[in-house]
Amino acid sequence: MRQKIVAGNWKMHKNAEETEDLLNDLIDKLPNDVEAHIIVAPTFVNLASAVDHLEFTNIGVAAQNMHQAESGAFTGEISADMLKSIGVGIVILGHSERRAYFHETDALLAEKVNTALKHDMQVIFCFGEELKDRQSENHFTIVENQLRDGLFHLEAKDWESIVLAYEPVWAIGTGETATPEQAQEMHKFIRETITAKYSATLAEEVSILYGGSVKPDNAKEIFSKPDVDGGLIGGAALKASDFAAIVASI
Ligand code: PGA
Repeated sequence: MRQKIVAGNWKMHKNAEETEDLLNDLIDKLPNDVEAHIIVAPTFVNLASAVDHLEFTNIGVAAQNMHQAESGAFTGEISADMLKSIGVGIVILGHSERRAYFHETDALLAEKVNTALKHDMQVIFCFGEELKDRQSENHFTIVENQLRDGLFHLEAKDWESIVLAYEPVWAIGTGETATPEQAQEMHKFIRETITAKYSATLAEEVSILYGGSVKPDNAKEIFSKPDVDGGLIGGAALKASDFAAIVASI
């Protein structure tokens, strides 16, 4: 049975004190009887304190990005080894904001994925089409290409460390959500694409999260779809009661 996951991507929000406050609030409010793996992704500077804070909880900590090189003259960057050394074993790669504002390509992301796997990290790999792609009915091709160029160089065994997050760009931070049917249709297509490249068994085992304006009032319906295994939550992850309600919907 594949794992259900609800992850909160805090983006560039919350300073040190606010991070502690939100973590305390989450510890208070998150339901502890859910089967889902719960993950939070604060900013780099607050990762170490988040790991400390959450040590005796079942909440995992992820980084929002990482550099592909082992180390070197890359001013302002963070390596896999640095993350592992503070107890962070999960990394979000390929978020649409990284792709759009920091020009991350699938080829670069493939390198980042390789580095993460080399360091035994779990990767939450994000991808999804833009509005123009959906309007021109190219969304399936775009998603297939993103999977192929970012991940299909991997061997089947590497996929144990991969979680997929389908995030249609037009639904991120816009208040616009894919309908549960649109999410299901794409998630099913993703599984079919993985089946064609690898196997039906592998496609059945990989968790596929949906992301893009998931809120307490739409989470249940989206999560009820058979190929949706949870969510990557942005805005609604910044308020403990909202995130807890979303987690409770899984
Ligand atoms: P949102 O962001 O929930 O605010 O739309 C999702 C994401 O960027 O992962």
